[in-house]
Amino acid sequence: MTHDCDIIVFGGGIAGLFTAARLRSEGYDVLLAEKDALGGVQTLASQGMIHGGQKYTLQGKVTAAATTAAAMPERWEACFKGTGELDLSAVKMLSESQVMFPAGSFLANLFSRLTVFAAAKAVNGKTRKLPRGAFPPVLKHGPVYEMQECVLDVKSLIAALAESLKGRIFKGAAKDFSTDGHVTIGAKTFHAKTILFTAGAGNEAALKQLGIAEQRTQRRPLRQIMVRPMQHALYGHGITGEPKPRMTITSHPDGAGNYVWYLGGNVAERGSKVPEEEAISFAKKEMHAVFPDMDWDNKEWASYAVDRAEALSDGTHLAAGPCLQEYGQVLVAWPTKLTFAPLLADLVLDRLKENNITPASAATPPDLPEAAMGSYPWEVATWIKP
Ligand SMILES: Cc1cc2nc3c(=O)[nH]c(=O)nc-3n(C[C@H](O)[C@H](O)[C@H](O)COP(=O)(O)OP(=O)(O)OC[C@H]3O[C@@H](n4cnc5c(N)ncnc54)[C@H](O)[C@@H]3O)c2cc1C
Repeated sequence: MTHDCDIIVFGGGIAGLFTAARLRSEGYDVLLAEKDALGGVQTLASQGMIHGGQKYTLQGKVTAAATTAAAMPERWEACFKGTGELDLSAVKMLSESQVMFPAGSFLANLFSRLTVFAAAKAVNGKTRKLPRGAFPPVLKHGPVYEMQECVLDVKSLIAALAESLKGRIFKGAAKDFSTDGHVTIGAKTFHAKTILFTAGAGNEAALKQLGIAEQRTQRRPLRQIMVRPMQHALYGHGITGEPKPRMTITSHPDGAGNYVWYLGGNVAERGSKVPEEEAISFAKKEMHAVFPDMDWDNKEWASYAVDRAEALSDGTHLAAGPCLQEYGQVLVAWPTKLTFAPLLADLVLDRLKENNITPASAATPPDLPEAAMGSYPWEVATWIKP
């Protein structure tokens, strides 16, 4: 027997969950299949920062990505208040704001001070220079700029989205599928008006199965670094005069009253090119240089290697927003950033409307095993004391 539905989504990261929840709220009969665990590969490994564009102004100018991102904090905020396109009022925040702090030489900081602040302010007027008394406790030197861009407890976001799709999410991957909407998952067969792949790196396999020979995807590797125990939380970007942060830091409760600091930015980009031991050693040196008053020798360290999986860009510029490719009744999609998930859902909805796909009355979802929540990198890390 074939199970009919409007849309089958493959991939239970932010892209699949947000889009499926949005389609469901518009009345579509939607099912979501996740191969492994909810929260996926990149989403639970992300830093959970909702970018408002300021991070993309480090070149000292307003870039296309900055413009796209500028409207996102407000849009997410409405969801968190329960007044947006989805009710995400159950989502927990780790921080309501992020900071940009100096992490380089005096000259570089002077450059940053003048250009970054002007560009950051241009994309979001709410960026402000903090008075010294309001600095996060671990920062001793200014200038420190605060941006009204929140940092999420990503698991709570995944859980809230999964709740709105209760009974419609199951564990499974497409065995066979075709551009006419037929798909086999395990022993069951389905027919969907649209099959949507939001499978992150798994989109590559989907394109291969579709017989697409040319390269339409890219991966950009990172090796995130973790360090614990940290007494204070910090959420922000250490900037020099470079277009990318020297380090991006988020802080995650370790369950014992302290935090794990999760380090991205250049520390993670550099770390992706070398073995783990070397990456940790480099990160440790960087932390010593930027936070010289702190004891980095009596800490535990770990790393997590993960690729950013994206649609192919021109090699020099990251896509300024989400991407969607169409092959018959199959859509393949990338949010490019967690932040852009609502824009990806817009793209998919618009495409369904253009294709005259309207919601049908929902059939009873098939009886299939549920997909469970995945883990954060620091929950599964192997810690070392170098
Ligand atoms: C280290 C890191 C930090 C980041 N920090 C931020 C940040 O702070 N802010 C921000 O906005 N963005 C951030 N990003 C980017 C952001 O995380 C990603 O753009 C986003 O999470 C991608 O979501 P996704 O759902 O497309 O992919 P994923 O989260 O990778 O999910 C894809 C899912 O598809 C599943 N899958 C694969 N193949 C199949 C199949 N055949 N069938 C069914 N399921 C399948 C996988 O198991 C996985 O669960 C970060 C990325 C990384 C790597």
